[in-house]
Order: sequence, then C-alpha cells, then structure tokens
Amino acid sequence: MNKEKKVPERSCIGCGAKREKKELLRVLRSPEGLWEIDPTGRKNGRGAYLCPDPECLRKAEKRRGLQKSFRMEVPAEIYRRLQEELERLAK
Ligand SMILES: [Zn+2]
Repeated sequence: MNKEKKVPERSCIGCGAKREKKELLRVLRSPEGLWEIDPTGRKNGRGAYLCPDPECLRKAEKRRGLQKSFRMEVPAEIYRRLQEELERLAK
C-alpha cells in the first residue's frame, strides 16, 4: 500500500539516523587524501554522510564514525577542521 517513491537514504555517521541523501552533508576524502565537507555531494572521492549539525560531528568523533566508514585512522585534528568547516557552512 506504500506508494511513496524510494529515495536514496544514508545513515549519519554521528547519530545513526537514516535520512535522505540530500538532507545530509557529505564528508569527503579526496584522492589526494584531503578531507572536506562537500555540500554538493558531487565531488570526486570517498564520502560518508552526516547531519548538517555540529553535534553529530562530535558524536561521530566519539563513535569513531569516520574511522569505521573509511577503515583508516583519522586524527582528532581532522575532526576539528571539519567541525570548523561545518560551523562556517551552518551560518
Ligand atoms: Zn546525525
């Protein structure tokens, strides 16, 4: 009976909530190894998804969300830089 169209869903690496892709921010690791937030979701590289909420990034750090998602070590400094970028985008 559900006639709603299937929309692509992703889980936030912080709170774990499933949301539509377009409602989430993409955290990108470029082929050069640079980390950034990709609001368009179109840049080249591997991505993980996060609610547009600095609180979720803090949760992701506690849960080691990026480490799990990318299967690599992620220094605390990377989280701090992403946090700054996220706060800038939120303004
Ligand atoms: Zn979240």
